[in-house]
Amino acid sequence: MNKICPGCYKPNVEGYCLNCRKLLFKGAKVPPILPFETPKADNLQIYQEKTKRLSISGVQLKYSLRLEGKELQLTEKGGQYILKPIPPAALVMQPDQAPENEHLTMQIAAQLFDIQTAANALIYFKDGAPAYLTRRFDVKPDGSKFLQEDMAQISGASRHTRGENFKYEGTYEDIGRLIRGNVAAYPPALESYFRLLLFNYLFSNGDAHLKNFSLIQTIMGDYTLTPAYDLMCTVIHTPQESDTALDLYKGDTDGEFYSRYGFFGQPEFRTLAEKIGIQPIRTERIFAHLLSSQNEVLQMIQHSLLSEETKIQYENNYLDKLSRMRMTI
Ligand SMILES: [Zn+2]
Repeated sequence: MNKICPGCYKPNVEGYCLNCRKLLFKGAKVPPILPFETPKADNLQIYQEKTKRLSISGVQLKYSLRLEGKELQLTEKGGQYILKPIPPAALVMQPDQAPENEHLTMQIAAQLFDIQTAANALIYFKDGAPAYLTRRFDVKPDGSKFLQEDMAQISGASRHTRGENFKYEGTYEDIGRLIRGNVAAYPPALESYFRLLLFNYLFSNGDAHLKNFSLIQTIMGDYTLTPAYDLMCTVIHTPQESDTALDLYKGDTDGEFYSRYGFFGQPEFRTLAEKIGIQPIRTERIFAHLLSSQNEVLQMIQHSLLSEETKIQYENNYLDKLSRMRMTI
């Protein structure tokens, strides 16, 4: 018996484990096989997202699902889940690995680095093709929605104001400032944000643009950072992409470390932490945390549902970034 939960990789489970069923389906015994085949790619919204930059997020199709009893069904309105099948693009490398890449990266973030993430799992179409499934965190139990705005909206960046590449205009320091200005409990929010930036760098997520960070209104009426979403090792699909979607801060390539090696290391991230106002002692603690758990990460990659070839690639990218973050000048 070699079955694992396609949500959290727990061994010796048939279908989703109890914990994943609670996180995703209010406990309902939803099977890991959808009752329909891969939909025909006719998702216009995605194709209208024209950008000069080739990114995995730009070619991923998204479908809305609702839970009806024990079945997930495609829906136009009142979607509670987002489903991302294998992207149809011939433009990206290894598109068939994209769903599990995203699922694995989200699970590593949640299980090993205490990053709050959107609930997620791998699921399969009737024809056997995998898809990434995630539960929407902006939908209230009664079906209405929490107010949510991404950092492009909050900073007023749109195609209209900044052109086609608007999602990639700005720095991570700018986002830090927006968190400080809009979140009442900003010190812990800034630390969570910084932890996520380090995670993205270590796991080669080069597509963390302005729309991949959002604030959401709480029941109390104030704003907080949303759980993390869209995390994946993008370099597997778009190897030509730069290491970070946004600059860390203006002048981030001027320092001694970057000048010597041509990539970011601890000094640049430390400067960023300082600029967004994180206490140095807290910054060091976050570094130590993110640079730990190497064996656990490698183990989780091995237990994942990636192909053997992609596992090696995923692992090598992680080890490469880890060694960068352990280098000194
Ligand atoms: Zn599970």
